[in-house]
Amino acid sequence: MDTRSPPEISCVLCRKVVDLHADLCADENGKSVHEDCYVQDVAKKLPRIRK
Ligand SMILES: [Zn+2]
Repeated sequence: MDTRSPPEISCVLCRKVVDLHADLCADENGKSVHEDCYVQDVAKKLPRIRK
């Protein structure tokens, strides 16, 4: 087994490192993103649902 640190994965939306243990999420294309970034990205694509 490889016990070295895993390669850092960057969020494709904000370019910051994704913490695999905390906030890894994947978008519809399988890209690694933060859950919060994904939510915001989806929100931007959706029609306005707020008042
Ligand atoms: Zn992000």
